[in-house]
Amino acid sequence: MNNEFDLIARYFTRQAPPGYLGVGDDCAMFQVEPGHHLATSTDLLIEGRHFFPDVDPWSLGHKALAVNISDLAAMGARPLACLLSVSLPRVDEGWLAAFSDGFYSLAERAQCPLVGGDTTRSIAGIVINVTVMGQVRPEQALLRSGARAGDDIWVTGTLGAADVALRLLQGRLPPDDTLLAATRPALERPEPPWQFAQMLAGVAHAALDISDGLLQDLGHILQASACGADLDYNALPLHPALQGRGDAFVPSAVLAGGDVYQLCFTASQDRRSRIQALAHSAACPVTRIGRIVAEPGLRVQGADGAPMVLDSAGFDHFS
Ligand code: ADP
Ligand code: MG
Repeated sequence: MNNEFDLIARYFTRQAPPGYLGVGDDCAMFQVEPGHHLATSTDLLIEGRHFFPDVDPWSLGHKALAVNISDLAAMGARPLACLLSVSLPRVDEGWLAAFSDGFYSLAERAQCPLVGGDTTRSIAGIVINVTVMGQVRPEQALLRSGARAGDDIWVTGTLGAADVALRLLQGRLPPDDTLLAATRPALERPEPPWQFAQMLAGVAHAALDISDGLLQDLGHILQASACGADLDYNALPLHPALQGRGDAFVPSAVLAGGDVYQLCFTASQDRRSRIQALAHSAACPVTRIGRIVAEPGLRVQGADGAPMVLDSAGFDHFS
């Protein structure tokens, strides 16, 4: 491979869908449907900071796009296209082939074609930047400011696994190969619920994706919506690998663990059966975990029925 252009041609130039001008010109072009707005978001991933240097490149390609598709889902937006910029210290063809396969695999499933980007040599370490673009009717977009007192609070998927896997890999929990094998896919190959999210547009009141931890992220909705929340720990959907375990790390992983890339959303109580039906049709697990209230603050009723104290080590960053 001789240069940057060969590299782009070999790994980042799959056919764009009909109606798209993809990789190869100065800009990409595609249409946004009438009545919709463009929703856009970007994320930077730095080796050593956001991913381990030895991470499986297929998983990294998947996750680089997944965390961005998660942001579109959090708005109720439908993916339209993405851009990928990579800065690499050297050209490792095996690494590039696996990375690009992981990236394209999700791009194709989520119908979010790669239409452009930039490729440069880095001085040290791999840097990856993905930008996604999607569309949503502005009056149906799921803003953080839309929650109202009386709303149910819901989450998609399950909680806690990604944080446990991260702590195991960092040596912050005692080695446990069985637990690592069960939780690692959640950390390395998150599957944001992009199809269900589009169905929630115009149905839910507020939403965001859980990236920093349920308590902290729900806190953003409460702040933007000027309200409070009551949560029930017993209602939280624990990842199967964490169910029935009494370990002290479980509650903090579930309440404060990041890297979840599932949705937390609020909706009025009269939408319960509609939401269940939509979730069923999208094959997306949903769980009702609490209630939005007028009184500010976030209260969690613990597994034993008593209020949980939310200022212990694991929940520090919340307060
Ligand atoms: P420019 O000179 O305008 O920066 P480049 O030579 O960097 O263009 O890129 C040539 C084409 O390849 C452009 O269409 C650009 O969007 C695309 N491209 C470059 N790097 C990537 C990448 N990592 N993934 C996808 N497309 C890329
Ligand atoms: Mg360029």
